[in-house]
Amino acid sequence: MNGSISRTELIRLIRRLDEYEEWRRQVFIRDRFTCQHCGARNGRKRVIEADHIKSISDLVSEFGITSVETALKCPAIWDINNGRTLCHSCHEKTESYPTNFKGVSRKRKVLK
Ligand SMILES: [Zn+2]
Repeated sequence: MNGSISRTELIRLIRRLDEYEEWRRQVFIRDRFTCQHCGARNGRKRVIEADHIKSISDLVSEFGITSVETALKCPAIWDINNGRTLCHSCHEKTESYPTNFKGVSRKRKVLK
């Protein structure tokens, strides 16, 4: 893997990692699958999502991450204390809502 991928592409790759799925799972479990903003629970009408309180984009800049390998070695990205469960509508209202998130979230809507 070379270091010439764009930050957007890098973030996209991070979101596809098994580690990312695991991070989301840990955040959901800790929050009992409940939106931390409005209290909605995961269900047919509400889809919950895991939000990075400090965005991955900020963390990537702060720690100078340029590859998936360095991302994997950065504990801040995988710290569940930097995560919170939000339902889709609350998540969309956050400033940190990533513009490139939509294509990814559609792939796996409800976490089982
Ligand atoms: Zn909500």
